[in-house]
Amino acid sequence: MRCLICNNKTIFLEKYKFNVKSDVEYLGDNDIYQCRDCNFCFCHPMPKKIKLDEFYQKIYRAYGRPHEYDSIDLKNNYKSFKNLDYLNYLEKFLDFNKINQLFDFGSGTGCLGYLIKKNYEKIKISSAESDDNCKKILKEREYKNYENINEINEKFDLITCLHSLEHLTDLSIIQNFKSLAKKGSYLFLEVPNCEFNSKFKLRPYDSPHLMFFTKESFQKIAKKYSLEILDISYCSIPLEENFKNMNYAKKKYENWQKGKIKNFLKSSLRKFLKRVKIFKTFENKEKKNYQENDKNLSNLRVLFKI
Ligand SMILES: [Zn+2]
Repeated sequence: MRCLICNNKTIFLEKYKFNVKSDVEYLGDNDIYQCRDCNFCFCHPMPKKIKLDEFYQKIYRAYGRPHEYDSIDLKNNYKSFKNLDYLNYLEKFLDFNKINQLFDFGSGTGCLGYLIKKNYEKIKISSAESDDNCKKILKEREYKNYENINEINEKFDLITCLHSLEHLTDLSIIQNFKSLAKKGSYLFLEVPNCEFNSKFKLRPYDSPHLMFFTKESFQKIAKKYSLEILDISYCSIPLEENFKNMNYAKKKYENWQKGKIKNFLKSSLRKFLKRVKIFKTFENKEKKNYQENDKNLSNLRVLFKI
């Protein structure tokens, strides 16, 4: 087993941990391997493409399982603390008046691009998202959505990829980003911060993430793909705080099964309002506990110049 970034030797680290137990059908019974040189970790064996496609089309955002909060896209939620923070961060490094085209890979409902467009009207926003529910919202938000990244025949000044990279089975997408980028453009990535030290080993689960990045991994990626790093930083809530949320999610969702929808029609409005309330509580907690520049924070963000 060779490292997916630097091709050096890897060692078996741990068994892969599941959030929803039944996801093993799509993701497989995997192990986690770690590169001895750059500390990058990844799943092995990787899930089969056909199973993974099925997972993201039919299961990932299914009702009553993790990510149900993603679909609670209240119309004004694009101005959430998290999205405003992304915008503030980017404004420190780049001049949006010089950005004409933005591409968001794995955009979900496209909150960040929509927020950017609200602030800088002339920017054209594009996305690559396959989820039907998200596609509807993207259309309302004037995104040009591509089903397949290979169909894109325009070039971009800014490419964003937030919490998507870790869901892929390899890093070839970086090459795609490079060919979609104008010269001198920017690539903004955010992923979970996965330094497999004693603290991180207490994480409740890995699924459905397949690749686990550290600061060092991104330094290697920059070298491999000839990208210039403008910034790498830690941010978000402390790991311990995040693990508490993950434990809550695990308890709630671990026994979720496809096709078993409990009392959905009976009390859907009440349930929806309850979900909105929980969502808002999480968001407020995240805002309260948000920090920057500490190794033990949950996220890692990188801004590359291409
Ligand atoms: Zn490596």
